Amino acid sequence: MKNEEVKDGIIFSAGEPNDAYAQYFIGQSYLNNLVTDPDVSVGVGNVTFEPGCRNNWHIHKNGFQILLVTGGEGWYQEDGQPARKLVPGDVVVTHDGVKHWHGAAKDSWFEHLAITAGQAEWLEPVTDQIYDAL
Ligand code: MN
Repeated sequence: MKNEEVKDGIIFSAGEPNDAYAQYFIGQSYLNNLVTDPDVSVGVGNVTFEPGCRNNWHIHKNGFQILLVTGGEGWYQEDGQPARKLVPGDVVVTHDGVKHWHGAAKDSWFEHLAITAGQAEWLEPVTDQIYDAL
């Protein structure tokens, strides 16, 4: 697999197995919560995906999400749009209410920082039909 070094975290450590959200992911992800200050309206986390791992379709409600790609190769897709290949240095802004998913490429580890406001509404998994066609 490509970019094995991402497994341990590129800038911030990869953190722990992301058990709290495992039900909303296909494959194994890791989460390192960097900012969880109740007096700050955004959360910041470092999310690391094993090859083939991706989250379900979801919506950020009453807020937004910004992804800052730090390692490996991955994908971002909004509903009805072509998937966008992601590499380190890429920035993704997801507006309130936009259905989307993000995750690793089939053959590569992947890591991004996620700056998130509002609540996530989790939807159906990204099917193999969609993912395998990328
Ligand atoms: Mn998202």
